[in-house]
Amino acid sequence: MNARPRPGFPARLDRPADAVARPAAAAAPRSAPAATTALQRTLRTAPVPQGLGLDSRTVRLAMVHKLAVQGVKDARVLDAMGRVERHRFVDTALATQAYEDTSLPIGLGQTISKPNVVARMIELLLAGRTEPMGRVLEIGTGCGYQAAVLSLLVNEVYSIERLRGLHDKARQNLRLLRLPNVHLLFGDGMTGFAQGAPYAGIIAAAGGEAVPTAWTEQLAVGGRLVAPVARTAGGPQALLVVDKTPAGLQNTLLEAVHFVPLKSGIA
Ligand code: SAH
Repeated sequence: MNARPRPGFPARLDRPADAVARPAAAAAPRSAPAATTALQRTLRTAPVPQGLGLDSRTVRLAMVHKLAVQGVKDARVLDAMGRVERHRFVDTALATQAYEDTSLPIGLGQTISKPNVVARMIELLLAGRTEPMGRVLEIGTGCGYQAAVLSLLVNEVYSIERLRGLHDKARQNLRLLRLPNVHLLFGDGMTGFAQGAPYAGIIAAAGGEAVPTAWTEQLAVGGRLVAPVARTAGGPQALLVVDKTPAGLQNTLLEAVHFVPLKSGIA
């Protein structure tokens, strides 16, 4: 629980916004300019929700500043986190909390991950790469927020969700942004999405006891997977990075995390 008082809006920036929200680096993916242009158009034209009294760009840049202080270093990731309006992905009643470092309910017992966790996982996915990443599979679309952030950083995003209600919600949330490189799929992500394979990256927003073999099979050689895993059913989870090398799979277990469970089947 966060015992500290919530900041008022608009939040004050402690250092210039451009110190952290740099324009997309030269390493931006080939398809990024088109996606970015559509997103920027939306940022300019979409109405800010009524009655919130927040300057969303200012609070978003304060969030980005905090992410940088917390240790997120990749300028590409910070830039993308600064562009996507997280408050549009949560219920209006929760919009004033959208830029705090907290997970929030998105319906059907699921949650949108903390900004810090989203940024950390994407940073891990892209780490060590200067070349644009090709196709990425996201397991667990939820409200579509992470898919929108990914769309600014990789060439193609395939995002799969097992709950029809959330798949529809994500479609609605993303419609306004018109991101041509995001493909939303309804289905059981346990089996991945073979039609889009091989993937340069796979990122899971729900944690099981192990990484399904379908995921590592669908990962390209040279590709990387980032997922929460639990050692025992319902036990504590940790972030797992799997690199698929010509010599085989290399696993690296990192810090503890807390994600909703990975479940089989659709509902
Ligand atoms: N990335 C999301 C986070 C959503 S929470 C966001 O930005 O909002 C994780 C999601 O994983 C939940 O919506 C849950 O329904 C979904 N999920 C769990 N098991 C799944 C599976 N086997 N296939 C697809 N989605 C799954």
